[in-house]
Amino acid sequence: MNYLTYPLKIMKITQGYNDNYSHRAHNTGNPKDYPIDDNGGSSKKDAYFYCPCDEMIVKKVYGIGTTAGNTLWLESTTPVVTPTFTDYVGIIIVHPNDESFKDIYVGKKYKRGERIILEGDDGKATGPHFHISVGRGKFKGTGWEQNSNGIWIIKTTEGAVKPQEAFFIDKSFTTVKDTKGIDFTYLNNDEENDQNEMYVTKSLNVRYGPGTNYYNVNSLPTGTKVKVLETKDTWSRISDNEWVSHNFLTTKVPSKIYNTKKTIATSLNVRKTPNGKKLTEKAPLPKNTTVAVITASGNWTKINENRWVYSSYLE
Ligand SMILES: [Zn+2]
Repeated sequence: MNYLTYPLKIMKITQGYNDNYSHRAHNTGNPKDYPIDDNGGSSKKDAYFYCPCDEMIVKKVYGIGTTAGNTLWLESTTPVVTPTFTDYVGIIIVHPNDESFKDIYVGKKYKRGERIILEGDDGKATGPHFHISVGRGKFKGTGWEQNSNGIWIIKTTEGAVKPQEAFFIDKSFTTVKDTKGIDFTYLNNDEENDQNEMYVTKSLNVRYGPGTNYYNVNSLPTGTKVKVLETKDTWSRISDNEWVSHNFLTTKVPSKIYNTKKTIATSLNVRKTPNGKKLTEKAPLPKNTTVAVITASGNWTKINENRWVYSSYLE
């Protein structure tokens, strides 16, 4: 998949798109764009901007040899997949120094992961960083426009997007030091499961159909990893006949993840503690019930708060 991933090896955002400092003119004008400043993890000029999708092409360069902030326009050559849309994207990068542009020309193409340009402090930068704006679609007109505050903002066919709407974070590429409070989506590096893998956000009932009128067979704790096989209205199917409310699933990888197993006994008792009192609520569990594996103690597996089953009957 041609995911658009964060372009720096270290994310250390020093100014978010909605901060009150120099981005204020961007986020209060009309139209707006949503730039971030990232210093790449240090105050030195040592971070590169890497090609964040399968291929990007240089559309324009501006400011070299002048007092204006050097600016680079990059556009994807095919649609990219972001956390919120699939489309072409344009990206504007400001502040690389003149010498960083020596190998860059309009029409040059870069493949994913290739170094494009080094961070700098050209223009009015207080220190070396990249000022990055993203727009959905292809560049329109000159690729930028002045907004009602007189500030130059990115101009693409579908308009500016927020960084968290544009970039996934690929943890195998980017080390996150500071998001400045921006809630990014992490790319799932497990290639087999791709987009269908989701996580439970709140202890969730599992039912035998897409609605609350269906039999409630079990519950899955927060952090349970499930695979969504089908979605109907607000319901998602996670096995042959088990459904959960889609409102309590997210693609965001939580800090604590529980894998699942299936019950293999015809009827499996659920107990309050290992080998303890048998429960009657959502119990016993029928064969092929999906359960979370929170922890195992001896022969017993904890499947939710105060719910334990005999481990040999899971696989
Ligand atoms: Zn900036």
